[in-house]
Amino acid sequence: MSYINRVVKGTCPKCGQTKVFKSNGNPLIFKLPVMHNHCSKCNYSFHRETGFYFGAMYVSYGWTVAEMVAVIVLGLIFNRSFMDMFIGIVIVLFLLSTFNYKISRIMWLNMFFNEDDDE
Ligand SMILES: [Zn+2]
Repeated sequence: MSYINRVVKGTCPKCGQTKVFKSNGNPLIFKLPVMHNHCSKCNYSFHRETGFYFGAMYVSYGWTVAEMVAVIVLGLIFNRSFMDMFIGIVIVLFLLSTFNYKISRIMWLNMFFNEDDDE
């Protein structure tokens, strides 16, 4: 399975059979997504090492900037004020916070997946 395919599906990098996250979370009730500790089919550990997901913050930062730029471009296309764009950015980033959290962790996990690893 390709990197893009695994990231889009959000499945185990090794076997692609189970989901990495057991719950989606909901920003409206301030609930974060919850990850499985390991794959139930192949026992691949999703918690690679202590602090592994600190690096996912950089991926999340990239997504956040891309979303902010998208809102600004839409604001310029529809000729909105900077205050409207600012409010739009706050709303969009708040609503996409759990998406960013999940996609950045899944991307980070898959970036460091090596099929030759024993575990
Ligand atoms: Zn697996």
